[in-house]
Amino acid sequence: MFGRRSECRGWRGVWLSVWLAGFAVSAGAVPAVGVPPQTIARDDSAECQSVPPLNIDTGMLRGPFVELLQRSATFRQQCARIARTPELRVTLHVRGSLPERGARALTNIDRFETGAIRADVALRLGRDYLEMLAHEFEHILEQIDGVVLRDEVAMGRAWRAPSGSFETRRASDAGVRALKEYSVQAARARRPR
Ligand SMILES: [Zn+2]
Repeated sequence: MFGRRSECRGWRGVWLSVWLAGFAVSAGAVPAVGVPPQTIARDDSAECQSVPPLNIDTGMLRGPFVELLQRSATFRQQCARIARTPELRVTLHVRGSLPERGARALTNIDRFETGAIRADVALRLGRDYLEMLAHEFEHILEQIDGVVLRDEVAMGRAWRAPSGSFETRRASDAGVRALKEYSVQAARARRPR
């Protein structure tokens, strides 16, 4: 849908020239203390099919995340691309309010000198998590693909909010597409046999 500029305010990404001490720990996806090794064994086949990969911390959004994986091919592909980018670490957050008025989601990207990339995705509490998950993941992939947002604006495929953050057609389309796939599969599952 055209003109839904308020749905997400992304890309206030900051380039940091320092390595943050805390990131080295979180980037390693350290298993929980006291958990027997066999229960944390990596299952590649289930990754991005029914479970999140190690470099995505879903937090309290694990439920909607898994549901979307199971019902949206678009989201599975996005997830798989992130899983294949080990230098990237994605953390999902739910917030009662976001710093930008009217925003439903916000993603911040930090790049580190070492090549590590941290993406923090904040979704507004109670607001259409499914569409926004796919929408924000596409913003992350845009950055992995090296999309230059200023060029996209010049080509009419992105626009800028007064705050300076960017919105893109590509992310909007991905969110809508994933939600549509989800809805079709959910309706199918509800159909009596
Ligand atoms: Zn967006």
